[in-house]
Amino acid sequence: MIYLDYAATAPIDETVFEAMLPYLKPDGLHGNPASTHGPGFKARAAVDAARQQVAGLIGAEAGEIIWTSGATESNNLAIKGALEFRGFPKNGKPAHIVTSKTEHKCVLDTCRHLETLGARVSYLKPDGQGRVTPDAVLAALTPDTVLVSLMWVNNEIGTVNDIEQLALRLRERGVMLHVDAAQAAGKLAIDVKAVPVDLLSLSAHKLYGPKGVGALFVRRKPRARLSPQMHGGGHEQGMRSGTLATHQVVGMGAACALASERFAADVAHWSSLRDTLWSRLRTIPGVLRNGPAEGERAAPHLLNLSFPGVEGESLRAALGGIAVSSGSACSSATAEPSYVLRALGRDDETANASLRFSFGRGTTRADIEQVADTVIAQVARLRAVAVAPEPVMTEIDDSNPFGYAPEIWRLFRQTPNAGAFPDGTDGVVSAEAGTPAARSVLRLALKFNGDRIADARFQAYGCPTTIAVGARLAGWAKGRSSAELARLNAAELREALEIPEDRAHCALLGEDALRAVLTRYQEQRA
Ligand SMILES: *Cc1c(COP(=O)(O)O)cnc(C)c1O
Repeated sequence: MIYLDYAATAPIDETVFEAMLPYLKPDGLHGNPASTHGPGFKARAAVDAARQQVAGLIGAEAGEIIWTSGATESNNLAIKGALEFRGFPKNGKPAHIVTSKTEHKCVLDTCRHLETLGARVSYLKPDGQGRVTPDAVLAALTPDTVLVSLMWVNNEIGTVNDIEQLALRLRERGVMLHVDAAQAAGKLAIDVKAVPVDLLSLSAHKLYGPKGVGALFVRRKPRARLSPQMHGGGHEQGMRSGTLATHQVVGMGAACALASERFAADVAHWSSLRDTLWSRLRTIPGVLRNGPAEGERAAPHLLNLSFPGVEGESLRAALGGIAVSSGSACSSATAEPSYVLRALGRDDETANASLRFSFGRGTTRADIEQVADTVIAQVARLRAVAVAPEPVMTEIDDSNPFGYAPEIWRLFRQTPNAGAFPDGTDGVVSAEAGTPAARSVLRLALKFNGDRIADARFQAYGCPTTIAVGARLAGWAKGRSSAELARLNAAELREALEIPEDRAHCALLGEDALRAVLTRYQEQRA
């Protein structure tokens, strides 16, 4: 398995793990950092040291770091807390937020929630590279604007917003700025002393720390004020109650210290891998790079590409032993094409045929070469199954990462009967069903000899199940009569291939294609 999904999460670093262990062991340093006795003081000292390490990565003071459970919570606390501190929604005054359409879901959903309570939110559309410029933000401000929330680095496409400029200009206007820096920390130089952001969110697991811990930078001078979203014992200066998870906090501290230490080497390593992969994959006809244009500021650790003419699920299935993400990890749980790529103006088909490659400390040049070879071969293969008269089949490795039923997987890997008959071949009747916009097209060609099918071929653009349906239909048709074919229906296809309910439409597509061929055959005979 080659893991190229570090932007979704990075494995914990060995030294981070070692640093956490003493606080996790049953006979370890188990004290409550809020307790006033020996074990408590020891835990407190570890928490303080970790706070210093996190602060060090971004140029903050230790007292400006509030521990949270991750960037999702930090973003919630920053945005809801800032509005609530100003009296929203109880004082009934208008409250306006400026953010962008390409923020992480946890920012967008927080804003949507505040809209239900009466806030007004401007979701700015980024430019073609995914940037929201300081000018665009300034133009959206109103006298009621309470907060601007903008990410530093986009998690899907690696676009870098000009937070340095924006922060200075918002400071002049007296508007609070929150920055989601989950993908920026350790990847870009961040110095909150020079860049006057008020609030900044961090996550440990994007930085080789443990999952489930993050931090919010809350500026002290001038003081950024927030209402707590978690009420309780008044921990974290009253902004976030709850007994601190000492081991997690220590892990995040160690991860940030390591990121500071390795910063230059990490960035050089990642950008070189990114550039190597792009130089290989840009040779694929029609490939599109999503996000920053060449020569523009870009996150070093990721590359997002679209492969028009290839269906996304089939591409990911064919990549088998390579873990990459399609769009963001969060939104690929749903079948929706990435809203970030759509905001850039990509259509649904192209957005769906996109991959995000993200690199880590463990990624080697050999990994990148192997990934490039595989992607080049599989894009060519899937395009061939969709259009080539006689596709040349390259092997797909047998990992079946999404767990398709065995027969679907076999037919997808081997694609028997793929292709078309040469133009002018006697007795061929062909027709197709589906549309590219619906992300499945199946073309079936039957070669009749009298009323019997002497040979059959298919071409398909679609998911592995669609391709398997095409291969099955073509294989099954051979030697049968038109009357036998007319009796085949979607239910039988589903049973033969073990097609699950949520893919029933693929079997229906097969039935439609078959019906279309038979109708044409009857018309030609009449
Ligand atoms: C991962 C991520 C988050 C969420 O962080 P968690 O710590 O997993 O809650 C928020 N914003 C961005 C940009 C991210 O990449």
